[in-house]
Amino acid sequence: MKNNCVFCAIVAGEIPSFKIYEDEVVLAYLDINPVSKGHTLVIPKAHTVGLLDTPDETLAAVVSRVKKVAAHLKAALPCEGFNIAQNNGEVAGQTVHHVHFHIVPRYEGDDPLVFKGEKGDMAALAALAERLRMAD
Ligand code: AMP
Ligand code: ZN
Repeated sequence: MKNNCVFCAIVAGEIPSFKIYEDEVVLAYLDINPVSKGHTLVIPKAHTVGLLDTPDETLAAVVSRVKKVAAHLKAALPCEGFNIAQNNGEVAGQTVHHVHFHIVPRYEGDDPLVFKGEKGDMAALAALAERLRMAD
């Protein structure tokens, strides 16, 4: 597995993902342990570990896609709001060492401080990804 990295394996198509959006720079797919319905990860296709080793141009491109995907999720789910989270280092909760942005949709009554997910139902995730899939 390239870079010994599960997200690089997703980019390479070596393992499946619940894809929402893809273009030449980024891939966005549902988190398999969602904090809330529609929890999505946006990653650059090029492997870097975190915010600090990612080139500014890549970050700018990724954040513009985070905005695009978040706007789509807000309208299509729909949700009332969302959090963007980006963890750097295990001490900060980073478990996958390929830089990624979480889009966590929030609904009335949610605790916005909770970022702990639960293992998702794979069939439900597949159906949701199908419904949320954006044109490239
Ligand atoms: P972090 O804790 O910020 O490193 O976030 C990593 C996230 O990746 C976690 O929320 C995991 O649930 C998620 N994750 C790990 N493996 C996969 C996968 N194969 N497909 C989708 N999400 C994944
Ligand atoms: Zn990687």
